[in-house]
Amino acid sequence: MAVDSANITPLVEKVRAGGRIDAGEALALYRLAPTAVLGALADGIRARKHPDGLVTYIIDRNVNYTNVCVAKCSFCAFYRPVGSPDGYVLGFDELFRKIDETIAVGGVQLLLQGGHNPDLPLSWYEDLFRAVKERYSSFKLHALSPPEVIHLSRLSQLPVPVVIERLIAAGLDSIPGGGAEILVDRVRKLLHCYSKATADEWLDVMRHAHRAGLRTTATMMYGTVETDAERIEHMMRLRDLQDETGGFTAFITWSYQPDHTELAGTEATGVDYLRTLALSRIVLDNFDNLQASWVTQGGKVGQLSLAYGANDMGSVMIEENVVRAAGASYCMDELEIVRNIEDAGFAAKRRNMHYEVLGDPVFRERDVPRMLELATAREAGDRHVPDELRFYPARSRAGKSARP
Ligand code: SF4
Repeated sequence: MAVDSANITPLVEKVRAGGRIDAGEALALYRLAPTAVLGALADGIRARKHPDGLVTYIIDRNVNYTNVCVAKCSFCAFYRPVGSPDGYVLGFDELFRKIDETIAVGGVQLLLQGGHNPDLPLSWYEDLFRAVKERYSSFKLHALSPPEVIHLSRLSQLPVPVVIERLIAAGLDSIPGGGAEILVDRVRKLLHCYSKATADEWLDVMRHAHRAGLRTTATMMYGTVETDAERIEHMMRLRDLQDETGGFTAFITWSYQPDHTELAGTEATGVDYLRTLALSRIVLDNFDNLQASWVTQGGKVGQLSLAYGANDMGSVMIEENVVRAAGASYCMDELEIVRNIEDAGFAAKRRNMHYEVLGDPVFRERDVPRMLELATAREAGDRHVPDELRFYPARSRAGKSARP
């Protein structure tokens, strides 16, 4: 559809009527539509997809099992190179303790992601997942973004589908959509994340995961070096894969957090976030759920997201390390998330990873302690090396010399 730059009314009407827009139309909307119009269109789609007036959230814990990484993405403030004294790997016992704490406040899963650590072989992950499932049979593992799966495939010299099958056999329940950044290789090369996963490789991991029966999420980190058209290309590639597999449960977008990164720069504004979120709600017509990213935007913009297409407040989270390393440190416990949802005019419900409603807020059913700050992977200065690491072969020189 050709768009008259002076008149986007026909395009607005098309979206209002439920029509699918192409990349050119999405670009015209993003550039020309007033923010209130974009928001109203996105809110209309949210209301059509979720007419029950519910906004969901999950109680889980965002655990980063290691910060050692060979990928060295220029936008990342979290990783430490191999051999760094600040590098860590969490022990199985530390992870069990985190799960105990998560279950105590009503949590149902770990979001488990980490650096590309050459000294953690596939067997380490399999043993960990099995041990978690033996102790906590109904607890879910939403773990290992596509670049981590690719890293394990390269490290183990096994094809991606085999790695996914082995991880599922060990207890993997779902794959988070991290590491997508912008699914355009020009951008990925500039961000030094092309070698960890090309756009096609990222999408292929998700394709294989969906074929293997896993549901996964999709993400987009915008606001680095991409053009508006490349943001839209990213959305189009996700929409195409969703048409093919139907395996994505949700889409989450957030802005690049520049502090302490090699790339540096400035953070996108709140209006840009809301416009990008609204546009993604319009373009991703085959995605059921959109999360608000309060962890990067703060509670107030997170709440506003519910008027710009989001129907989910994401996670109570309990712990966060990656965004904090880049300078953002927002915290909302269940009570605060529910207060924001209800104040926006919705009913708040707890959900699981498949976006099935589990029930009302836990704090209304029993006493749970207030959580006024997010936990970290470890206490500052804690440099202990887990005992079980000596049973796993290291690949790096530093790792080999540390493991007799
Ligand atoms: S974003 Fe992930 S893969 Fe990239 S450097 Fe950071 S930890 Fe490593």
